Amino acid sequence: MPEALYRKWRPGTLSELVGQDHVVKTLKQAVLTERVSHAYMFCGPRGTGKTSTARILAKAINCLSTVEGEPDNTCHMCVAVNEGRAIDLIEIDAASNRRIADIRDLTEKIHYGPAEAKFKVYIIDEVHMLTQEAFNALLKTLEEPPPHAILILATTDVHKVPLTIISRCQRFDFRRVPSLDVVEKLKKLSLEEMIDIEDEALMLVARKSTGSLRDAENILEQVMVSTEQPVTEWSVRQLLNLTDESLPVDLLELIAVNDIKSSLVMLGQLIDDGKEASQIHSSLIEITRVLILIKSKAGDGSEFGDSLKDRLDSIAEKFTIERLIFIAKIMANVDFRDLLTPALPLEIAIMESILGPQTGVSKPDLIQPNSSREQQTAHRPEVPLGKNSNNTIEKFSNPSTRIEHSTQKSSEVIPAVAQPPKDSKDVVQAPTEEKSIIVSGNPGNPGNPGNPIDEHWNELLRSLRQTGKRFNLGALMRGCKEREIRDDTLVLTFLHSSHLDRMNSEIEDPLVNGQFENVVEKVLGKKYKISVELANSDSKSITGPVSQQSHLVRAAQALGARIVEERSKS
Ligand SMILES: [Zn+2]
Repeated sequence: MPEALYRKWRPGTLSELVGQDHVVKTLKQAVLTERVSHAYMFCGPRGTGKTSTARILAKAINCLSTVEGEPDNTCHMCVAVNEGRAIDLIEIDAASNRRIADIRDLTEKIHYGPAEAKFKVYIIDEVHMLTQEAFNALLKTLEEPPPHAILILATTDVHKVPLTIISRCQRFDFRRVPSLDVVEKLKKLSLEEMIDIEDEALMLVARKSTGSLRDAENILEQVMVSTEQPVTEWSVRQLLNLTDESLPVDLLELIAVNDIKSSLVMLGQLIDDGKEASQIHSSLIEITRVLILIKSKAGDGSEFGDSLKDRLDSIAEKFTIERLIFIAKIMANVDFRDLLTPALPLEIAIMESILGPQTGVSKPDLIQPNSSREQQTAHRPEVPLGKNSNNTIEKFSNPSTRIEHSTQKSSEVIPAVAQPPKDSKDVVQAPTEEKSIIVSGNPGNPGNPGNPIDEHWNELLRSLRQTGKRFNLGALMRGCKEREIRDDTLVLTFLHSSHLDRMNSEIEDPLVNGQFENVVEKVLGKKYKISVELANSDSKSITGPVSQQSHLVRAAQALGARIVEERSKS
């Protein structure tokens, strides 16, 4: 029965494909105008319709009476394809036929003309699995395909396919099918199969298939054969052994209000009820992600159905986006391997989500604030921090009370990076009494928004990848610890002399230096000279107090911080 249904549900025309409108439009036009390529590359995630599209295209090309660029599905050519007995359609699974001998067979036989159709069509699925020799053999055929042959290559991993192959093909990128499109399609299938199924149940199936229509159809099929009707969301949940999503939502709500005790008790109850910790964990990740999307207005949670959507909206209100990102990262790092107590990693993750990371940061050199109480509150970091100066652990403050005090938009808040300091000179303690902002000048620090060089830093690194004589400047610049603009000069400070030496050896070449300056001008919109120096207080090229070398220190000072003591690393 499953096989029959799978065939039955397979789209017969391009228009029946779901969520790939861009592909459909172009291919229809090609068939209509009889401008079909000799080689196609269909790339995209599994279950998005690549192989189905290849078969439909094969039909359309050989159909005896196409209808507006579509196969008619009634002529004997179409029927032969639909019944899997078309002689001139050859399907090869490269996963199991990856050797050169397999491809050589193809490259020899492709020269014989088609038996009855106009074109001989080869579909090579999972083409990225071919060996290098097999690719080389295939390339020769792609370079000079016989006029009667059409090759359609399909892959989920296009980056594993040699560029020489890709460049010979007309490429189509298949997208994950949007949830709502999956729901529409499932509704149609349920009607045809006379399955009585709730909309919420269909939404759940769509969500669980993450953009793969094939997965969604497989689940629907399972539901059909093993569940009583009417099919409810609950019964789909039972079938797939899923946690009720409202429970992880409850849990996140407790995390939002920093209620450690209740959240751990609730987790314990869920596990006592027979839920797997890993299952709860993946629900937490999924919902955190949706909250991030809601918060950034990139999504509205409608795929969860109306009742849960409203709750998600109200919970999103209780979080800052920074904190949600933090929780998502904590959750993504949970590892359930090799543990006698499967709940423990999740318990730790929940506690960290409330308390912030326990990095064991010791109290660094302090810059005392001289700003007013209002300013201090306004600049309180919105991401979790290490231990505070009294070595006690503090919960997140409630964001709603924070907003009352806030005099600035959250986008103006300095991003604080809670990580152990690697170099005590880079560490600044922040202007609040109860909490500390740790800013560090390590590479990868998001830097100071508003500073043009920080804003464009990553772009600059990317643009410099192709520049350099012996070394790639983009890579060398990753060793750059501080960057700043002094008058008309971009000053790059390196932590290690070996990095500095390499950089010097590059920019001593006038050609490289010129290219470097051009890239900088293109990215920053202004011409700058390039100067490099070593991050060292003894360095003659640097004047003024050591702390002044850090734009982060200067930024902290601009916010009212005052240096009370400077100590060297030793
Ligand atoms: Zn036909």
